[in-house]
Amino acid sequence: MRSQLPGPGPKGPTNEWKTIKTLLPYLWPEGETGLRIRVVAALILLAAAKGTNVAVPIFYKQAVDSLTTGGPAAGTVIAVPIALLIFYGLARIMAQAFGELRDAVFTRVAQRAIRLAGLRTFRHLHRLSLRFHLERKTGGVSRAVERGTKGIEFLLRFMLFNVLPTVLEVAMVCGILWYLYGVGYAVLTFAILIVYILWTLGITEWRLKFRRTMNEMDNEASTKAIDSLLNFETVKYFGNEDHEAGRFDKALQSYERAAVQSGTSLAVLNIGQGVVISAGVVAAMILAGQGVADGSMTIGDFVLVNSYLIQVFVPLNFLGFVYREIKRSLIDMEAMFELLEENPDIADKPGAAPLKSGPGEIRFDGVSFAYDTRRPILKGIDFHVPAGHSVAIVGPSGSGKSTLSRILYRFYDVSAGTVSIDGQDITMLTQDSLRAAIGIVPQDTVLFNDTVYYNIAYGNPKASPADVEAAAKLARIHDFVMSLPDGYQSKVGERGLKLSGGEKQRVAIARTILKDPRILMFDEATSALDSRTEQDILTSFRDVSKNRTTLTIAHRLSTVIDADEILVLLAGEIVERGTHTSLLAKDGVYADMWARQQEARLAAEKLSTLESPQTS
Ligand code: ATP
Repeated sequence: MRSQLPGPGPKGPTNEWKTIKTLLPYLWPEGETGLRIRVVAALILLAAAKGTNVAVPIFYKQAVDSLTTGGPAAGTVIAVPIALLIFYGLARIMAQAFGELRDAVFTRVAQRAIRLAGLRTFRHLHRLSLRFHLERKTGGVSRAVERGTKGIEFLLRFMLFNVLPTVLEVAMVCGILWYLYGVGYAVLTFAILIVYILWTLGITEWRLKFRRTMNEMDNEASTKAIDSLLNFETVKYFGNEDHEAGRFDKALQSYERAAVQSGTSLAVLNIGQGVVISAGVVAAMILAGQGVADGSMTIGDFVLVNSYLIQVFVPLNFLGFVYREIKRSLIDMEAMFELLEENPDIADKPGAAPLKSGPGEIRFDGVSFAYDTRRPILKGIDFHVPAGHSVAIVGPSGSGKSTLSRILYRFYDVSAGTVSIDGQDITMLTQDSLRAAIGIVPQDTVLFNDTVYYNIAYGNPKASPADVEAAAKLARIHDFVMSLPDGYQSKVGERGLKLSGGEKQRVAIARTILKDPRILMFDEATSALDSRTEQDILTSFRDVSKNRTTLTIAHRLSTVIDADEILVLLAGEIVERGTHTSLLAKDGVYADMWARQQEARLAAEKLSTLESPQTS
């Protein structure tokens, strides 16, 4: 799988053109006539701004000429330069005003492009498979998106309002110089420009590797910081603050080194640019000085040549910076657009149909699966859950129980066999319709950093407060919530850490009840609860599961004795199946697990009766 981070690999103009091409449709948005008019208006204003800007030195030259040539009628002579100077001033004002107007008109287009690109990437990230998200570092991905959208803003602002205008201006100035003073001046200006550009591009290319390293290290530092802060408790349990700081600092050190190299090399670039510009201006001035000396040019012409060169080179001085930043923006945008090119492993097939409504019968036929082809996890699983029935899956840790639920939810596709719901192969269905039909209470519940209400209502954002409360009651969490000072408006903290494991689990149960799916899947949904609450919830489950197909994954066998069928999974294979009583009668793996759990329970009970006199 490709890396989404800008690495030091071969990045050439092809990539850059591709990035720019990806951006273009955002600037000419389909069906947005208003925005398209803005683009055209901005281009017209751009041409107007540059046109007036180029006229400024001409008024200036004429004013100088009319002042230096002198004449007999002093009164009329002074009126001419004053008029010219007023025109000069007006032209300057207009050039600036056109420029500002152009910015104002274009801002909406640029901001819309940024919004749409950011939104598209966000949606795409949600469409990518679980596998992508497990393998990628969230911190790195979010930085790539953040920097990518900033990159778009920069690129638009400078490419359109700096590079393009400068090119236009240079072309106009060269044309005017050619027309007024012959081809020599135009060639000289052009030559200085070429040397300047070659120097800038060459050195900037060399410097870019520092920037790439800085980006990589910035991603790395941010990934490490986020990971470490998310695991705050674990870090404390093991007193590993220094270890974490060391890992973070390693990335920061590399960043520092690259940033220093980048800063130092900038001085080389700037000095070189200064030398080229100064040498060029001096050469042109010597040429013009000679022209004045031999009478072919006026003082005004001398001033005009100087004004034009300075006018062209001042923004060029800026161009070095702009070029660097544009390159950087392109790299950042490339990283973001690469995310967009990432294809989801699990995609709706062409012509995928929505799951037809039905009673919710599940069938696994010869299902085999591996996360990594080198290590098979499920081996030829066959089972059938008739609609409205409940099947429990038990087995030792790592035997593949949760994997079965991930496959049913189609987080992964099977490598052999088929899974069907109501006779429809799930790979032929749209993912949205499939997932809408299944409610999962996962093993590890992670909550959004919002209120309890928000987290329960997440199961069905359209539910009324009364529905939310009813679900909370069924999940035996309502009384607890009411005992909190802020009730349903209490914040649950980052990832729900302010709630206990059992409370989080009950919130997860409530939101799944609210989703109201035809198939329910409980993956150790009561493992964090004490046995009394567990019993209460199991009673609720029985109510909720009525007329629904239920798959329950459990460690504690006492929670599944009522299941219509119990499957015993061992190393990815079903080794036994039947009801609780029939499995006990078989005296096999299940009976053995049952006996051991009973022993452990009895031992625990004995211990608590022995301890209770001392504690009371
Ligand atoms: P437990 O009772 O501990 O929850 P389980 O029976 O539910 O275990 P699964 O979560 O299905 O086990 O995992 C089965 C095996 O697949 C485990 O050995 C696990 O290491 C492996 N596994 C799970 N997820 C992945 C993954 N994303 N990539 C690679 N291997 C994985």
